[in-house]
Amino acid sequence: MNTEVLKINPDAPDAALIERAASVIRGGGLAAFPTETVYGLGADAFNPSAVEKIFRAKGRPADNPLISHISEISQVRLLAREIPPEAECLMERFWGGPLTIILKKRPEVPAVVSAGLDTVSVRMPSHSVAHELIRRSGTPIAAPSANLSGSPSPTTAAHCMADMLGRVDVIIDGGDSLIGLESTVVDMTGPVPTVLRPGAITAEDIASVTGRCVYGGESSGAPKCPGMKYTHYSPRADVVAVSDMKNAAALLAGAKGKTAVIDLCGGDYPADVVYDAGADLASYAARLFYLLRRADEDGVSLILARLPGPEGIGAAIRNRLLKAAGGRTDKPC
Ligand code: AMP
Ligand code: MG
Repeated sequence: MNTEVLKINPDAPDAALIERAASVIRGGGLAAFPTETVYGLGADAFNPSAVEKIFRAKGRPADNPLISHISEISQVRLLAREIPPEAECLMERFWGGPLTIILKKRPEVPAVVSAGLDTVSVRMPSHSVAHELIRRSGTPIAAPSANLSGSPSPTTAAHCMADMLGRVDVIIDGGDSLIGLESTVVDMTGPVPTVLRPGAITAEDIASVTGRCVYGGESSGAPKCPGMKYTHYSPRADVVAVSDMKNAAALLAGAKGKTAVIDLCGGDYPADVVYDAGADLASYAARLFYLLRRADEDGVSLILARLPGPEGIGAAIRNRLLKAAGGRTDKPC
């Protein structure tokens, strides 16, 4: 398949170019596009054969449901049959932004989108290009991250192209994703708001609106979030999540092949490469997936990466890093 690449400035999106990508979505094709979290791989959520192409392009297991993206809050009614008042408050407070809300689904939503579940996950991105693409497509867009299944999500157009050239009709190059980690997923179908996947919006942020919110899914072992049982975010290199960077030298000693360290503000380590994750956790989140992929490009075979504490966006970084490391740390945590 020949993939068209459209370069669009997110500060002044070119309407004609976005319209080209929107016509691909309306025609049942696949468009990869930037969002504030990571690049997404989109299709018309109400066109089952278009959505099936997403699973083929990514090599994604069919039992891993997709998030449907909307451009106006009112569109949530096309997808959800029941909207609890607390969920509406979350939409008002956090949309557009990196929060995905799970609701009971309308029967019109194709089973392929929800992987056969009775629920649907919905998000309204804040990114100008994503917003305009959804608006012009005139339909919710089902979109997982635009990577081959199992690889770190792409946060730059180059990494999106590395995985998706030749597999999709169009890729929009709209610059780097500012947040760099996938959205928070909160389940609003039960008695208590439950975070199934941590992200930039924390359980505490949600509780400030709803009164209470708990972490669930993988932390409780419940099978509510099917995607979480799959290996995610793994570069080819081995990854160790390091909670005490004083252990780095010992872990690097005797390592075979090229070694790398990822740490805040870089640092002085006896590794072949030291990648600077930035000065704070927000920059670390924005750079983590980029750096995991960069290490592969640089031929690294062992990556030691700082495992931050669980405060704020630290919980989301920990979640992705521990998955990338397959649970391997410098000590039990
Ligand atoms: P991705 O878009 O690739 O970041 O993956 C979406 C994540 O949301 C996966 O972990 C899915 O398992 C999860 N998800 C999407 N829809 C639902 C749903 N209806 N119920 C539970 N989890 C969902
Ligand atoms: Mg993904």
